[in-house]
Amino acid sequence: MRTIVNAAMSVDGKLSTRNRTQIAISGSTDFDRVDELRAESDGIMVGIGTILADDPTLTTDRAENSPIRIIIDSDARTPPDAAVFETDIPVYVFVSDTASATQIDMLEEVGATVFQTSGERVDLQSTWELLDQQGIDQLMVEGGGELIFSLFEGNFVDELRLYIGSLIIGGKNAPTLVDGDGFTADFPHLSLESIRQIDDGVFLHYTV
Ligand code: NAP
Repeated sequence: MRTIVNAAMSVDGKLSTRNRTQIAISGSTDFDRVDELRAESDGIMVGIGTILADDPTLTTDRAENSPIRIIIDSDARTPPDAAVFETDIPVYVFVSDTASATQIDMLEEVGATVFQTSGERVDLQSTWELLDQQGIDQLMVEGGGELIFSLFEGNFVDELRLYIGSLIIGGKNAPTLVDGDGFTADFPHLSLESIRQIDDGVFLHYTV
């Protein structure tokens, strides 16, 4: 399964503000690029932090494909009234084996397919194996920084597509592209494939 991380960040590497509120980092031309990538993917994944902060629909405006929406959510905290449940496109929620049965039932009632993995946090190795078995050839990951760190740490990322908007957000508590514990050794190294100006920002395409 090919895993492509896509994100938009400020010049200082932030994904959003310290209040975790979503802000416009890119413009319509980059939205269109992101929408095209969504439409060509079989699955779109985010962490529960992104669901709680942004309440995204994770859908594409292009009619030709409807990628499965996938949420990484150890404690099954995804709200049953989240925007992802407003359309009939499947939603997979990966939880840990300590997630509450009541929370899982509530998610199944609103149409989610819930997968339990072992451990207190979602086990990404078994998640990737299961998604592969489900026929997902291309997975797009839309954030946030906690999940992206785990994906680099576990060596799951094949490509990084990054838009850098020409603004500063600042704040030591504002989410960055790669949060988690960070690396002190064995830093993931990327190959720069292309650079392109889009609107007044820069689009960088890396392979890992
Ligand atoms: P996140 O990465 O979306 O979700 C992180 C959560 O996922 C963790 O706290 C953890 O919560 C859960 N998780 C379960 N298993 C995990 C594992 N193995 N590894 C890592 N996480 C795991 O949240 P975030 O870092 O807080 O990012 C959200 C922020 O990013 C928001 O402010 C949003 O606006 C912003 N954002 C920006 C962009 C952009 O392109 N600019 C894109 C997406 C998000 P549990 O332990 O409860 O499961």
